[in-house]
Amino acid sequence: MTFQYDVVVVGAGHAGCEAAHAAARLGARTCLITMDMNKIGQLSCNPAVGGIAKGQIVREIDALGGKMGEVTDACSIQFRMLNRSKGPAMWSPRSQVDRGKFIWTWRRVSENTPNLSIWQDTVKELIFVSRETVGGVVTRMGVRFEAKTVVLTAGTFLNGLMHIGRTMIPGGRVGEEASYGLTEQLKAAGISTARMKTGTPVRLDGRTIDFSLAERQEGDDDFHKFSFLQKSEVSTEKLKQLPCWTIQTNEEVHEILRSGLADSPLYNGQIKSIGPRYCPSIETKIVTFADKDHHLLFIEPEGTDTQEYYLNGFSSSLPIDVQLEALHKIPALANVKAYRPGYAIEYDFFDPTQLRHTLESKVVNGLFLAGQVNGTTGYEEAAGQGLIAGVNAALSAMDRGEFTLSRDEAYIGVLIDDLVTKGVDEPYRMFTSRAEYRILLREDDADARLTEKGYRLGLATKERYDAYCEKMAWIDKIISFCQEYHVKMSFNAVLQSLNSTELKEGSRLISLVGRPELNIWLLSEYIPELKELLDSIPNRMEEIVEAAEIKIKYAGYIERERLVADKIARLEDIRLRPDFDYDSLHQLTIEARQKLSRIRPETVGQASRIPGVSPADINILLVLLGR
Ligand SMILES: Cc1cc2nc3c(=O)[nH]c(=O)nc-3n(C[C@H](O)[C@H](O)[C@H](O)COP(=O)(O)OP(=O)(O)OC[C@H]3O[C@@H](n4cnc5c(N)ncnc54)[C@H](O)[C@@H]3O)c2cc1C
Repeated sequence: MTFQYDVVVVGAGHAGCEAAHAAARLGARTCLITMDMNKIGQLSCNPAVGGIAKGQIVREIDALGGKMGEVTDACSIQFRMLNRSKGPAMWSPRSQVDRGKFIWTWRRVSENTPNLSIWQDTVKELIFVSRETVGGVVTRMGVRFEAKTVVLTAGTFLNGLMHIGRTMIPGGRVGEEASYGLTEQLKAAGISTARMKTGTPVRLDGRTIDFSLAERQEGDDDFHKFSFLQKSEVSTEKLKQLPCWTIQTNEEVHEILRSGLADSPLYNGQIKSIGPRYCPSIETKIVTFADKDHHLLFIEPEGTDTQEYYLNGFSSSLPIDVQLEALHKIPALANVKAYRPGYAIEYDFFDPTQLRHTLESKVVNGLFLAGQVNGTTGYEEAAGQGLIAGVNAALSAMDRGEFTLSRDEAYIGVLIDDLVTKGVDEPYRMFTSRAEYRILLREDDADARLTEKGYRLGLATKERYDAYCEKMAWIDKIISFCQEYHVKMSFNAVLQSLNSTELKEGSRLISLVGRPELNIWLLSEYIPELKELLDSIPNRMEEIVEAAEIKIKYAGYIERERLVADKIARLEDIRLRPDFDYDSLHQLTIEARQKLSRIRPETVGQASRIPGVSPADINILLVLLGR
């Protein structure tokens, strides 16, 4: 049996769901093929979305018209804006979500996306229409799906091998089969592959946890959420909000964990690949930080209708009895029962330096790769790549050009540029420190950066675009008011009462808003015209005022970063031919010649970020290009 599509997406994880939705929204006839339709958008590890720098990615996906933000809001059981005590460049939204509802919400979104078909099956091979061009896939049930482009988002499933103590089980995730054959086929086509590892903690039965011995942690209760849409297409209902809890390990726990190290696949040589540095297992923590007598753990609810809890911070692949015995030494878990043990998994990934910024393979035409298969870790990183791969797979299939984001436009741009320029030697996760233009890439202004682009692409809806324009118009109105409104010396009495330095002469309101101890809401209590303006905002009043205030308070920093970004951006405009013969440029260092020949950067800007290519090499390149 044969079907024909424009785009086939393999795998319905976080990358695959966004890719399929984006491709279909752009008008490409798209088929999402996945092993198990009841696990669409499954959160393989923690039941939470967002977090530091990851939350910004979700806001960007939403601003472009992707779905992760809306799905997360619909399933959120606790929302927090992390890093609120720092500047707005660091604010990062994070939601605890209902794991089961997340799956069914993604499934509902996918089933209701026009142009999108779903097929439950395992892809076992790619169809090649020529030696280096892909033309579809064949599944285990023997069905052929011919397509102009294919997006591969197989996550941790490629030759997946799970470890619990000395027990090894082939699989892509606990209870799910691994995927075989695709790695070998791509390797034969010239794509480099290697292995990585990740792990997950034990899941606990809430009826056996003594919560009175744990510290309660509530979420925020204000207007923040992931989606910029006031009325989400996915759901406008809010789930019951639940607390998280914190507890600590202790020396007794560590002693038991240490006694199990001989049977730890991480320490007895069974696991050979590298895991995520910033999500270490509990056994790695007690070995690496041997002098620490406790580690913080979070007990996180898995949903509103379940007793299951996720023990964040206790990722482990030690034998099951060692995991449980150690847990019983924590007072709140003295009698705890587990639903599922922690385990580790090893899987294949592909060298991302063999990708273009569109996430199309440089080796196999028409093949796009996104998510964990590119050496990243995390749902948000996967979803961001999925959106870009899905958009470009659709654009390529419909002959409509390409779409990329730069480092000063989005964290998604930073992520993809890092992957394709620098490659990975350990699972890559996003951090704010990876972005050089943090103040330009705030969570509050993702819509200002990206919604227009998403709308022009055909991904963001008209409703989203109109809401964005309305919000921008109100922000401009508030800023103009503050620029024009003249504060007289008589305002000094108010400033004195607010412990703010008095004016020496009349001043514009904007200079007062810029002061750290003052803000628009506070000042509006003393300036009736400002109060009247704020009261006339019909929708999203708090969000608009917050955005205007950030723009005013951080105007100097924003402007400075913009200037630097624009200067660097000029190098991005100088394109390099893919067949450029770097070996003939003897003025370049040998290392630069080797790296440039291997990575084949698309622009001088990208070349300048390749480790091993120095500023001197770039200057030489510019001079020679000039000639
Ligand atoms: C045990 C474990 C622990 C993890 N721990 C962490 C962690 O601590 N921190 C962190 O950030 N991330 C962690 N992750 C990673 C996180 O789950 C992934 O980063 C994220 O899910 C990647 O999304 P993805 O879309 O690339 O792949 P996945 O979410 O893995 O989705 C892949 C999809 O592809 C489907 N599929 C695979 N092969 C085929 C095929 N041949 N045919 C059809 N369908 C196929 C699968 O059924 C699945 O639906 C962990 C993952 C696992 C499994």
